[in-house]
Parts: sequence; structure tokens; C-alpha cells
Amino acid sequence: MTRSMHASGDPAVHVSRPLADADPEVRAALDDEARRQCAQIELIASENVMSRAVREALGHEIGNKTLEGYPGNRFHGGGEHVDVVERLAIKRAKQLFGSAYANVQPHSGTQANQAVFFALLRPGDRILSLELAAGGHLSHGAGANLSGRWFDSRHYGVDRASGLLDYDAIEARAREVRPALLIVGGSAYPRTIDFERMAAIAEAVEARLLVDMAHIAGLVAAGVHASPVPHADIVTATTTKTLRGPRGGIILARSNALAKRLQSAVFPGIQGSLHSNVLAAKAVCLGEALRPEFRDYGWRVVENARTLAATIAERGIGIVSGGTDTHMVLLDLASVGLVGQQAETVLARVGITSNRNPVPFDPPGPSRWTGLRLGTAAVTTRGFGTTEMEVLGACIADLLHAEARSDPGPALARSGPKVAQLAQGADGCGPA
Ligand SMILES: *Cc1c(COP(=O)(O)O)cnc(C)c1O
Repeated sequence: MTRSMHASGDPAVHVSRPLADADPEVRAALDDEARRQCAQIELIASENVMSRAVREALGHEIGNKTLEGYPGNRFHGGGEHVDVVERLAIKRAKQLFGSAYANVQPHSGTQANQAVFFALLRPGDRILSLELAAGGHLSHGAGANLSGRWFDSRHYGVDRASGLLDYDAIEARAREVRPALLIVGGSAYPRTIDFERMAAIAEAVEARLLVDMAHIAGLVAAGVHASPVPHADIVTATTTKTLRGPRGGIILARSNALAKRLQSAVFPGIQGSLHSNVLAAKAVCLGEALRPEFRDYGWRVVENARTLAATIAERGIGIVSGGTDTHMVLLDLASVGLVGQQAETVLARVGITSNRNPVPFDPPGPSRWTGLRLGTAAVTTRGFGTTEMEVLGACIADLLHAEARSDPGPALARSGPKVAQLAQGADGCGPA
């Protein structure tokens, strides 16, 4: 009998060894990351803090299971429990968003969009979406992305004076471009989107409408942002971000008219086997979002963002569009003579994590972007309210003005302890 022996000896021991024994290097990096998350104030708008329940599902051995296909129609045996999980996730997604159709298999938001393109378009077809500098997303036809290479990609922007979507201008652009697919949604657009109007524009030019609600899915679930589901042909989202779940995508539709095409576009169109553990975590996060507390969470996220924006604006720093209706605040740093990288760096020195971002009409090239994007989804999960946001906003404004004077020292000394104290007082830093 041949038996391959792993260096650790008995294979059963190998399977059950704790990470700290099996791989101390990775364990140490994970522990460092957990400490970083506790010690810092997370303001990156696409981040959130998953619940312990979601993380348990993510780490579960259900991830060992290989399955292709859909519940009741799999290409491998032994899938009965994954079927239960996937059916639960689908049922909850439909209930949460009021959709007739849900596909919970996309591995990411970008994959969800790609599946929609594969379902609806042929290479060379025309798409029309919000441009990157105005807050659009890479996967909506940016030149460096597959979507920009394989489709004839055109864009619309925002109004220069208000920073808002100008629906008359979008309609004029749509009539000129005649896209097969009109896309709305983005990564740095802080205001409410009028989905009904976008649907009317799509109808007028006989285009399909895709709403990508990746950033605001949690706010839609909570009822604090109007839902795109009744208006769009197809809606994509991530379960990350405001929905507070695992990294992954979902596809929704108000009717089953496109269901067959969407099913086969995800599998076998662009994906193979599903990520069973992520499906389980998606089911848990969708269940959490169905609970009444999640409505309260969504409401507080927006209230916190408005307080943060107002606190910073009162101190003379420009806010793109003048404020926010979502979890997101986009600072216009030209108002203080900084670029995004400088702002990101000075905030990082006191443990505030954020990201540089273009503001509308910025030139291409990350070193010249003059925006800083902030978001309140993660800090709200950690229990912050408007009092904390006022402290944080005052520290941010103080640091940015000081950096603009090239004399950040005193502001760093003032803000450092305040930020550390906020982080220490926050929820979510129990034992791993
Ligand atoms: C974040 C985001 C995505 C992409 O999600 P990934 O899971 O990172 O691929 C897609 N669309 C929009 C608008 C986003 O903000």
C-alpha cells in the first residue's frame, strides 16, 4: 500500500491543525490585520464589517463542495445541503428587494455585470454609462476593462455646476448615442438616483436599463434609497459594501423575462463552479438585512454621512454636489489646494483610512485626482453616531487645512489621540 505522508504526519492531524500551528506566518498577518481594523477608523466607502455569523458561514467546510449548475439541476452529486443554502439565499434576495428573479452565484460585482453583458449584448454593441471621473465604475465600459474593449463604450457625465446627474443631458446623449444598454450606478456618486427617469430615457431610445446598485444595495434594502427594481430591466449589486455581507455579486430582475438568459450567462457563460461558502454567507447577510434593525442601520448610515459632510463643509472644505443622500461623501480638495494622495496620507497618519478619488472633470491620472472619498457604512456598524461623526469631521478638516499649510505637526498631535479614543470606544473588536 502506498500512502503519501504529509510533513505534518497523520493526514487527519493535518486537516484539524489550527492555523497558528499549521502556518504561523499567515496567522500573524491575519492577527495584525484584525488589530489594524480595531485600531483604525475605516472610512473607505466600499468597506463594512461583517457579522460573526457571516464570517462563520464564510469559513465553513461547505466551501469544500464543488458544484456547477443550479439547485435541483447540478452536475455533481452530494449537493443537497448547498441546494438548501442557495434556495434560501435566492428566496431572501427576492423578498428583500421585491424582485421576481435573483441569481446569487456571481463571484463579484464585476462578474455580475459581465454576466449581464453576456446575456444581453454581442461584442461591438454599444453601451452608455456614467464616466469614471464622474463616479462611474471600471466594469461599465472603462478602456482598461474587458467591458471597454469588447463593447462600443460611451459615457455621460454630471452637471459641472451642481455635480448632479442631469437627466435632460443624459437623455440628449442617449438619443445621440442610441445604446443597446444604458447603465446607471457608480462608485463615487453620493446623491439619490432617479431610476424612474432613467427607465423613461432607456425606453425612449429602445435600450435596456441596467442599474448597478453595488454601493447602495444596503440602503435600498433598508428603504432609505428608492429601489431600482421596479424600473430597471436588470439590477446588479455586491453583497459587500452597505449590504454588509461577503465579497460577491447578485443579479436581480423585476420579472422572469430574462431569467433563462441570465441563468445561462452566469453558468456556464462566465463562471464554473459556485463558491458554496460564499453562498452561505450571502444567505446569512440577506437574512440580517431582512430584520427590522437593518432599516435602523441604513437610516443611521445616511444620517452619519450627512453629519460628516456638514461638519467638514462648515470648515471651508468643498463637498462634491454640496452634500450627500447616501453613505458617501466626496471631498473636493481643490478648495484647499490639495490632491487626493496628500489628503489620504495625512489622514492615514492618525489612523483614518480613506481613498483618493477623481472628482468630476478631474484629469486622468491618480496622482492628479483632487478628490477624497469617505463613507460611513463601516463606522456605523461599529456603533458610531452623529457625535462621533462631528469629532471625526472636525479632525479631518483640521488635518487637511494643516496639510495645505504644509505644517501638519500640531494638527496631527491634536487629532491623533481623539481618533485613537474613538477607535478604542467602537464596537466590533472582541476576540476573533
Ligand atoms: C464595487 C463596485 C462593483 C464591483 O464589485 P467587485 O465585487 O469589487 O467586483 C461594481 N459596480 C459598482 C458600481 C461598484 O461600486
